[in-house]
Amino acid sequence: MSFDYSVHKLTGTVQHYSWGGTSFLPSLLTIENPNHTPFAEYWLGVHPSGPSSIEVNKQPILLSEVITSDPKAALSEPVFTHFGGLPYLFKVLDVKDMLSIQVHPTKEYAKVAFEKEEAAGIPLNAPNRNYKDKNHKPEIMLAMSEFWLLHGFKSEAKIIETLENTVEFQVLAPLFRAEGLQGLYQFLMEMDQAQVDSLLSPVVKRALRHKQDGKIDKTCPEWWVAKLYENGAGITPVDRGVFSIYLFNIVCIMPGQGIFQDAGVPHAYLEGQNVELMANSDNVLRGGLTPKHIDVPELIKNIKFEHIEPVIIEGTKPCMGESVYPAPTTDFGIATIMLDGSYAFEHEAQSLDMFLVVEGGCVVNNQLTIKTGEAFAVFPGASITLNSSGKTLIYRAFVPSTVAYSQHEEN
Ligand SMILES: [Zn+2]
Repeated sequence: MSFDYSVHKLTGTVQHYSWGGTSFLPSLLTIENPNHTPFAEYWLGVHPSGPSSIEVNKQPILLSEVITSDPKAALSEPVFTHFGGLPYLFKVLDVKDMLSIQVHPTKEYAKVAFEKEEAAGIPLNAPNRNYKDKNHKPEIMLAMSEFWLLHGFKSEAKIIETLENTVEFQVLAPLFRAEGLQGLYQFLMEMDQAQVDSLLSPVVKRALRHKQDGKIDKTCPEWWVAKLYENGAGITPVDRGVFSIYLFNIVCIMPGQGIFQDAGVPHAYLEGQNVELMANSDNVLRGGLTPKHIDVPELIKNIKFEHIEPVIIEGTKPCMGESVYPAPTTDFGIATIMLDGSYAFEHEAQSLDMFLVVEGGCVVNNQLTIKTGEAFAVFPGASITLNSSGKTLIYRAFVPSTVAYSQHEEN
């Protein structure tokens, strides 16, 4: 196939998970949504659950097919040699309702655990299958709106304060002092449901009252507990994920800021819109707020039981209009490009780069017009010049420079 590895329009896939909002993504992507279907995520990548296509002579073809037909040309030789495929998955999320509490494994552990489940003959699509692949799943996300999330355990002092200030949790303080974070968390995750209900029902009822009376705001765990139960669906059985809302840091990041979530850091998205970039993996261990499978022993093995001080990432500006958000991984990199009509942005791709326009619009190499909500792929070695007539915001996903991963030891 003689394929032109330069610049092509790119079209992703929408995921309609029930926690998604009904207007943000339809409006970004210019899709009518008369039935108010939830639009949770928009994926750009080659994941089989939502593959993207590129436009060639006005016809869509799967990006995965373009890569398979000549992976070295499509990905660059070093990326193909090191990763064997496109290492990242690029997403836009609209979080209306809280997502599950989760943690992702290290690459080393995922490999061992995947092979163990393969050997045990657990089908890949079985509900009790934990490890879908051998990969880690570090994630970076940049806020598109005010964005709220749970991220890592609070400090010991703050956990003690939380336990002592919540009357139902006072009995837990001695256990935490004696057995530490892991002892406490494991106890809560293994507790019988009847005990969970008797401990948490009054907590939920009080949270609902306090939210209704306007006594609490989004910095309080109670606000999020109330949000979970305010739709009148009944309180019991109470989800034990509620405990995590009290034990984890509640973090708010603003547009222009980002946060990185490495293996072992428990987290949950609470509310808002963001752009998320992650390793191409589906390895998620869940700890509540989900109807999906929860495997407590595996969850415990993957969580790092330590205090995490959330690090909010601000972009660094290597050149006019661009902000790069450093992520401590070789699998992906992310940047934003801001144009205002007064200058052009020039770039030579070193990897398969994806550009997503979320505000305004631009013209690529004076020939391809890209509007709000549209995306394009730039293959390695291709150069682009972007021009806009007004304020334009673009997100760029890429694989970091070859030096970084050629020095990185293969596991
Ligand atoms: Zn995650």
